[in-house]
Parts: sequence; structure tokens; C-alpha cells
Amino acid sequence: MTEMVVGIDLGTTNSLIAVCDERGPHIIASESGRRMLSSAVRYDDSGRVESVGMDARLGAAGYPTRTVMSAKRWMGRAFSERCDDPTGAAPCVEGLRGRAVFAVGNMTRSPEEVAAAVLATLVADAEHLLGFRPKRAVITVPAYFDDGQRQATRDAARLAGIDPVRILNEPTAAALAYGVGRPGASTETIAVYDLGGGTFDISLLEVTPPAKDQQELAGDEGLFRVLSTAGDTHLGGDDLDVLLARYLLRQVAGSNAVLESLSPHERISLIAACETAKCALSFQDQTVVRWSISAGHIRSLPLDRPTLESIAAPWIERTLVACRRAWRDAGSPAIDRLLMVGGSTRLDAVRHAAAALFQTEPSTALDPDEVVALGAAVQGAVLSGKRRDLLLLDVVPLSLGVETVGGAVAKVIMRNTSIPTQAVEMFSTSVDGQSKILIHVVQGERELVADVRSLARFELVGIPPMPAGIPQLEVRFVVDANGMLQVSAVERRSGRRAAVQVLPTYGLSAAEVESMDSASVVHAREDMRRHRMIDLIVNARLDLRWIGEATSRVRDSLDRETTESVDRATQELSLLVARAEHDPDSVDADELHRAKEALDRASVRVHEVSIAASLKSMAAEAGGLSNESRTT
Ligand code: ADP
Ligand code: MG
Repeated sequence: MTEMVVGIDLGTTNSLIAVCDERGPHIIASESGRRMLSSAVRYDDSGRVESVGMDARLGAAGYPTRTVMSAKRWMGRAFSERCDDPTGAAPCVEGLRGRAVFAVGNMTRSPEEVAAAVLATLVADAEHLLGFRPKRAVITVPAYFDDGQRQATRDAARLAGIDPVRILNEPTAAALAYGVGRPGASTETIAVYDLGGGTFDISLLEVTPPAKDQQELAGDEGLFRVLSTAGDTHLGGDDLDVLLARYLLRQVAGSNAVLESLSPHERISLIAACETAKCALSFQDQTVVRWSISAGHIRSLPLDRPTLESIAAPWIERTLVACRRAWRDAGSPAIDRLLMVGGSTRLDAVRHAAAALFQTEPSTALDPDEVVALGAAVQGAVLSGKRRDLLLLDVVPLSLGVETVGGAVAKVIMRNTSIPTQAVEMFSTSVDGQSKILIHVVQGERELVADVRSLARFELVGIPPMPAGIPQLEVRFVVDANGMLQVSAVERRSGRRAAVQVLPTYGLSAAEVESMDSASVVHAREDMRRHRMIDLIVNARLDLRWIGEATSRVRDSLDRETTESVDRATQELSLLVARAEHDPDSVDADELHRAKEALDRASVRVHEVSIAASLKSMAAEAGGLSNESRTT
């Protein structure tokens, strides 16, 4: 049996380890559940590694002479190449043969030794989960790394007891994670935009997949040609944190205030708070930045997304300058795909700017922090000779759909549809005045949400209040040639739209597809029955509400016979619905159906009387989609 080859993203700020098995590529988390390791190392007084990771990073201010951060910037470099170090960490000095080394206390440590400490920690984490110590790894480096820098990376691996079977370019790894280069696909030009914590890299790749009849697997590096690279080794999310900190400081202390005048404690606390706020603003519109100015004293200021975006604008523009240069160097080819890599690409403004420049929708389905490590693991699986049990299929292996009200599933694309493909469905709301609609994208053959795989959730917000059933929600599913699913929703009356991307086959093995599929056959009858019950309950609830409201509005104008029969039918149906909601098996679906019809018949007069009364919209909570007005 060939030995497992893991994938390692040895990053400037953060490092990760991943493996590709029958589930596909996935990150190996540490025992405590941490998926990402801060690339920071602290040494003790005798020069032994004392701490690696977040603890070392957060403690850097307290132990500046014993902590090394961002060692990658110095990998394989001469001291004369001087690059700035982040403040609060061990300085770089000249070592043997002019090489750059870190002064740690009264000793020196080479960048390779520091990187080895990070690698050893990752491998120890993996050992805990796998039950054995992985000995061979694919390690990623920036595309622009020269031979010396690549050699230093190999040396670091050997110091950590790992055989570096391949040094892989980070943008190539990202492309592999996205399944680019599937046999039989056409040649594509890909832009990989990688904005991390301290560095920015843009790489243009040309990918020539093997012919379809070739049994060769995607992942052979020969398929990937680097057309051009550009970037800035001192441009990343950390700089945005500092820009934010400067801005906030000016707000509280006037336009002349400078970060450098703060105590180290306050400065570090403020910058850390800015990073937290920056990240929060990709999920919410506003936040409060809280930092400690001295023991026990906290200062806080509100920050909203537009402000963050205006502060970020010149910072983003610097990345675009490099993008234009790389694009020109490559001969300005049309870009088929734009892959977003690095934590800082979670900022919407960054995605929009890159998309506008390259004139293509960015791929964002995979976690931008994890995509490089995942791709390295894919390469590792190919090199270990293990067949890639990823689903390189030409069809949608499991149906794709959305959740409708009451937990039922409306399938939009049926299984075994060949890709690329797309489909559109219309939906509406089930609650009056719904101002937002939650769209839950699911995968599987079963009829109920509880029994299918959840792929993504997103919200369509800002819908003006309308009565239930009036909004026209168009939901479009597009699956591209690589199996990537894009779901977009537009409410046609208001024009509000939202979208999400997912890779439905991600982390799904052929065996799982098989079992999800056969479960649907086994449970088909039962599923249909439960689906019918859910629909009945939902529709009965709607009837009860509409008829109840209409009756109370016009009660004075109704004859006694009508009010009595409506009240009786209402009571009977309410009881049944309540029972069915409590325990669906305790109620016979036909009985519920009959009770609902009875109420409908009894209320004919009510409708006649109230027909002129206009429906008043009212504010209501977001509910599910209504499948009542679903058209096919
Ligand atoms: P590297 O490749 O340099 O090791 P990463 O790809 O891990 O770095 O990116 C780390 C950076 O991403 C940090 O600056 C962090 O603040 C930033 N980041 C992470 N999440 C978000 C977010 N939601 N919004 C904005 N920036 C983010
Ligand atoms: Mg990175």
C-alpha cells in the first residue's frame, strides 16, 4: 500500500494541514478543534520551542525578543534583502554566509527552523486525528518563490521529519481544490487572487486538462502553466487593521493622534479590536469596536460597513494595480475563472473590485482560508497513487433544491441531469408582510429537509411589505461544467436579489451518494405521506388565519347561521391541526383534508361579504417559502 501524502499550506500568517481520502479533501483539525494554526513561534530562554500558534501570536507583545512571526517572508533570503518585520517580534540579523536569521534572546534561529516548528505542530495535530504520523507532504509556496526559497521550504520540512514530496504553487493548489483541470474540459485561463494577512499575490494560470479518454487524473502539475504573477509582500489584512486603528484613533483623539504615541498595550488591543470588527462587518452592517486603554478601562466606538469600505478603498486599489500588471504581462487574455483565496477576500468590497476588473464572477464556494491546503491534499492523493474518489462526474449526482414552508423540499434540478445545466422556479411567501426570505439550498432525494444534506443558506432582504403569496420570487440554479452550483434569487416586484455559490460534491464520496440515493427509495412512501401531511398542515393554518381574520372583520354583517357554522368548522380544524403538529402520526391525512374542505365550504359567504375589504399588510417575521404558487 502506498503511504498517505498530506497537504500543507505553510502561510505567512496561518498554516493548515489537509488530507484527501474517500470523503474528498478536508482540513485536519487539532484535538481542540482548531483548523488553522497561527504561524507564530515563541522560544524559551534556552532556545527551545515554547509555544506555537495563537498563544505565541497573542503573547508576542509580552515576549518580543523570543517570538518569531511571519518567518516565511525571510525563507531562503539573504539578510541584505531586508524586509520589515512586524513590530513586537524578534528582529532579523545577518547569519552565516549572509543569510537572514532571527535573533532569539542571545541565540539565532533560521527561518527554516521556525517553519519546521510550525510544520511539526501541524503533523502532531494530524497524528492525533489519523492515529499515525504522516511522513510525506505536499507543501505550498507562492508562485513567485525562487529556487532558494523553495529549497529552504524543503529543508524546513526535513527538519520537521517530513519528506516534502512536492513543492506546489499556491495558486495551482487553489485551482486543484476547485476541481479545475477535469479530464475532457477545455483549456481555461484562471486568475487566482490571494489576499491574506500580510501578503497579496495575483497569479494567472493556463490550465490544459487531459483528454477525456486519457485515464490520467486531474492534478498533474504539468497541466498548469503560470502565465504571470505579481503582488506585494507587504500588503494584507494586517494593513487594513492598522488603517482602521488610525481612523478610530483620530475619531477619539483628534486629527494629530498617531498610533505610535499609544502604549504598546493600547496599540495592540486597538489593532486586535479592529481586526475583530473588520471580520464582523462581513456578516453584519455595523458593529462596535471595543479596546482597552489601560487595565480596567475600555473605550468603544461604532463602526459601520460603508465606513470600513471607504477606508479599505485605497488598500484594495493597491491590489488592483498589481492585478493590472500581471494581466498585462500575461498578454491580457480573457479570464475564464477568478478564484478568491486568503481570509481578506471575505470582504465584499474586495470580491466586487476583483470581479469588476477581471470581468468575471469570482468563485467563492470554498473557504478562502482553506482552499490552498485542500488543493495541496488533492495533489497529495494523486501523488500517493490513490485514485481520487472525488466525484468527477458529468452529471448532478443528487437532486438539488430548496426548503419550502413546513420543512418540505422542492427539487429544482433532478439527479442525473448532465452538467452544465440550469433551472428556474417561482416561489412566493406564506406570511403577510415578510420583509426577508430565507433560502435554504439542499441536496438529496428525500422529501423532507430533515433527511437531506444542507448545502447553503442565504437571505433576500429589504422586500417591501406585501400580503402572503404576492411576492414573486424567482430562484435560479446554475451548475457549471466543474459541478459548481450558483443559486440566485430575485424578488421580481421589488428587484431585490441575492446569491450564493456552493460545490455540491464537496466532501461527498461515491458511497455516500449511493446511500443517500437508496435511502430515498426505501423511504419513498413514508416520505410522500409526511410531505402530504406537512402541506396539509401548512395550508390549513393559512385557511384558519385568512378565514378567521375575514370573519372577525365582517362578523357584524353575517347571518347567524354562517357565523355558527364557520365557528364550528374552525374549531374542528384547529383541533386537528394542533394534534397533527404535536404528533403527525396521530392524525389521519384524509380526516384533516375533510376538515379543511368543510371550513372552506362554510366560509363561502364570508368571502362574499369581505370581498371588497382590502388586505392590509402587516409586518411579520421572515417565514419559509410557499410552495403553493410554485410553478413548474
Ligand atoms: P496568510 O495566507 O497570509 O497566512 P490568511 O489567508 O489566513 O493569511 O488570511 C488572514 C487574513 O484574513 C487576516 O488579516 C484576517 O484578518 C483576514 N480575515 C479573515 N476573515 C475575514 C473577514 N471575515 N473579513 C475580512 N478579513 C478577514
Ligand atoms: Mg495564504
